Amino acid sequence: MESLYIAMVSAECAPVAKAGGLGDFIHGLGRELMACGHEVEIVLPKYDVLRYECIQGLRPVRRDLWVPFERETIHCDVESGQVDGLRCLFVDVHSRHGFFNRGRIYGDVDDAERFTVFCHVVLEYFRHAKRRPDVIHCNDWQTGLLPVLLYERYERLGLRRTRVCYSLHNLGYQGWCEPRLLSAHGLDVQRLMTPDRLQDPGNPRCANLMKGGIVYSNFVTTVSPRYAWEIQHTEQGMGLQSLLKQYHGKFAGVLNGIDVTTWNPATDAAIPCHYDIDRLPRKAKNQRALRERLDLIETARPLVAIVSRLERQKGIELMLHAISYTLNQGQFVLLGTASEPAIAAEFIRLGRDADPAHCRLQLGYDEDLAHLIYAGADLILIPSRYEPCGLTQMIAMRYGCVPVVRGVGGLADTVFDANDSDRPFSERNGFVFHEPTPEALEGALERALGLWREHPDHFLQLRLNGMRADYSWRTSTQRYLEIYRYLLRDIPT
Ligand code: ADP
Repeated sequence: MESLYIAMVSAECAPVAKAGGLGDFIHGLGRELMACGHEVEIVLPKYDVLRYECIQGLRPVRRDLWVPFERETIHCDVESGQVDGLRCLFVDVHSRHGFFNRGRIYGDVDDAERFTVFCHVVLEYFRHAKRRPDVIHCNDWQTGLLPVLLYERYERLGLRRTRVCYSLHNLGYQGWCEPRLLSAHGLDVQRLMTPDRLQDPGNPRCANLMKGGIVYSNFVTTVSPRYAWEIQHTEQGMGLQSLLKQYHGKFAGVLNGIDVTTWNPATDAAIPCHYDIDRLPRKAKNQRALRERLDLIETARPLVAIVSRLERQKGIELMLHAISYTLNQGQFVLLGTASEPAIAAEFIRLGRDADPAHCRLQLGYDEDLAHLIYAGADLILIPSRYEPCGLTQMIAMRYGCVPVVRGVGGLADTVFDANDSDRPFSERNGFVFHEPTPEALEGALERALGLWREHPDHFLQLRLNGMRADYSWRTSTQRYLEIYRYLLRDIPT
């Protein structure tokens, strides 16, 4: 089949600019599309915090772009380089605001200005480029204005044949901003600030960039089928439910994959003893190494773990409850990053009061320790309030670690309960609870710990079922290719 030219425009791409799962999505899908023979270009801002050691052959490709913004015209350059085999374009914006020299990817008061200027430069670049992408794949609110600018302006300037696919990774962040930002880009505020275009449904004086992306894109996806349903039918849509229902004909949930090369217990350089489905007993050596590293004692108790950002979205209260509950019969390890000091303080307090022989709560980001935890733990706990997809449960299952999760979003699409599921036994791989309550959590944890204790052969079966499943990007990439081809069906080649 004919090869496509796909430009993926995003605020993140692992490992060069990663804050979370979005970075993994761009890297994973981009590499798999390339492996299928397509031409892929990742377009990112040129942040001062790029991991430059991950970029090969960085060189300028365009020096003379000028983009109107407010009352000035901003001079921009574009550079290109290779990141893990992917061709990346880095947009350098020479504005007096130093838009991408902030020492971090997100979190500034002018984030809406920063990322809309980025979108504008991307279109200006493609307008002047020799070849135009077949598909521009945009992601999250930071790129929501791109399809708006494309169809309001750039279509007439030569980008008539390019189509836009727009992926929603988290509805908790929608890019709310003042309408004057639209006029700063030369757009017609009167025309755009209407209920059927960019006006926010909850606050009519506010523009909503994610809403713009949904309305103006040719197709919209989100990162799991269950989250696609939840954001149309429950408050998880955070105000965009009706809009998504209105556009359900161009909307689909496509489950994310994980990078099965990085996350492979048979080759993982961060774990002391390699194993796979045929050599699962070797996992015990990693458990010993994990206990040793965290000063936990050797014991015949199960080891339960959490690896997570410690944000409200992830179910902080349930995590705290689970730690105390588990310590009566098992050991607990937590690795987490907390941006709110109050949340960090709660975990520090609990860690100080717990028995150090059986509990270690470690705050901070540690890639190698995360690998060792997946390899060493028996159970992983993910009690999220909402979870668009979640990679942690898929990674854990690949390492033979059994997930205990709240049945929301992508967790519901990937974890099938040992006792209560419509799936055949060979596909059951974990424990699921539904209500966000301590009682529901305890019920699932008790079933998991009980099975580990009383029926080790059944518990082993769950581990094996999880390890056997395919979490690679292969299937989902085919789905995205179907979407891209569907969008290009009417364009003569
Ligand atoms: P989200 O993108 O919402 O943070 P995901 O489950 O999609 O959640 O992805 C989380 C990823 O980040 C996983 O790869 C997990 O191993 C990693 N991770 C989370 N917290 C930490 C941490 N403190 N140290 C190392 N890795 C972490």
